[in-house]
Amino acid sequence: MSQPQIAVIGLGATGSAVLCQLARRGVRAIGIEQFHIGHDRGSSHGPTRIFRLAHYENPAYVPLLRRARELWRELETLCGQRLLVTTAIAELGPPGGELVPGTLAAAAPHDLPHEVLDAKALGRRYPAFKIPESYIAVIQPDGGYIEAAAALDARIRAATDAGAVIRTGEKVLAIEPQRNGVRLTTDRGQIEADGAVVAAGPWLARILPDLHLPLRVTRQVVGWFEPNDAGQFAADRFPVFLLESRHGIHYGLPYYDRMGLKIAKHHHFNEVVDPDGYDMAISAADEAAIRAPLAEYLPGANGRLLAAQPCLYTMTSDETFIIDRLPGYPQVVIASPCSGHGFKFSPVVGEIAADLVSTGQTRHDVAPFRLGRFSQR
Ligand SMILES: Cc1cc2nc3c(=O)[nH]c(=O)nc-3n(C[C@H](O)[C@H](O)[C@H](O)COP(=O)(O)OP(=O)(O)OC[C@H]3O[C@@H](n4cnc5c(N)ncnc54)[C@H](O)[C@@H]3O)c2cc1C
Repeated sequence: MSQPQIAVIGLGATGSAVLCQLARRGVRAIGIEQFHIGHDRGSSHGPTRIFRLAHYENPAYVPLLRRARELWRELETLCGQRLLVTTAIAELGPPGGELVPGTLAAAAPHDLPHEVLDAKALGRRYPAFKIPESYIAVIQPDGGYIEAAAALDARIRAATDAGAVIRTGEKVLAIEPQRNGVRLTTDRGQIEADGAVVAAGPWLARILPDLHLPLRVTRQVVGWFEPNDAGQFAADRFPVFLLESRHGIHYGLPYYDRMGLKIAKHHHFNEVVDPDGYDMAISAADEAAIRAPLAEYLPGANGRLLAAQPCLYTMTSDETFIIDRLPGYPQVVIASPCSGHGFKFSPVVGEIAADLVSTGQTRHDVAPFRLGRFSQR
């Protein structure tokens, strides 16, 4: 390849989406990943991620999620594989909590299809749930899950089919913007490009130390449990769910491909860690935290822990993304879509980052994701 036009640093959910977008637009693009594609040290590994349109965290996400859904469908057509599985999503909790009112606040102004069920009606629809009578459920019929590992592979394939170059096992040590481009120093040499997209996830603050980004990298844990009747938790009978209770906010997926029923506690212990050296072992306390709601609210899924995995969140101080050009260096774009919920957005974040690095503009509203918001505080 002659000098790449754009280098993408990091090939998790975000970087793979950016690379795919760029390559399919005919841009000469190179993707650099310090480990291998699909590795388990960052944020994007594991088989599945939740997709939902009404996001209790922020009603303003809905237009981006609608576009993300279109792009997920495009990727499915491109790779000939189902990647976004619709099961419905049930969000359960006290009517005065954070989850249920937040979901309703996002669904109503955007006319998103949803139903509100009381505990009895929920029990009739999904008998596996045993929730307190005072709880209510918001059901979004178009919620579901993403086949995350397959999606990552599909994007990498689509990017290379369109001419992108991928280098794995290579770590970018420094990013130096030049007058007309950017120079990357890696542990194998130097790469010159016209521009770069930094999609380094938990390593973002480390690779751009001068920005003093207010990021917290936290250790999370996901577990898969053995239900007493796998059929009752199958994706055609049981939804993706979020559950707010005295144990915190947990999220889970139907029984998956002999792995079991997935459940995790949002934020887990909120423990800040070093992405280069955190505890990968699963402790009894980890298991207790993710198992906590099963005995009370999903007793049929409270079986053996079949598998568990740590993973990282990269949280900004306002819990939303950073998608922006570097101050003074518009040829370098930061794309950080984590804050615990970035996978579902990754196609649209990829589109935005590709727009910004190649044209300096995007039709999407990126004002909430600008870097300047941190210096204004
Ligand atoms: C347990 C868990 C559950 C989640 N559930 C959901 C969910 O249900 N729905 C949802 O939408 N989102 C979910 N998320 C969030 C989502 O998975 C993340 O937002 C998303 O995967 C972030 O992707 P990323 O590409 O930004 O980061 P990463 O996947 O970490 O990718 C960054 C990449 O950059 C590479 N890199 C870093 N520095 C360098 C360097 N110097 N040189 C070369 N390469 C480098 C890293 O090795 C890494 O591969 C979850 C996250 C976790 C941890």
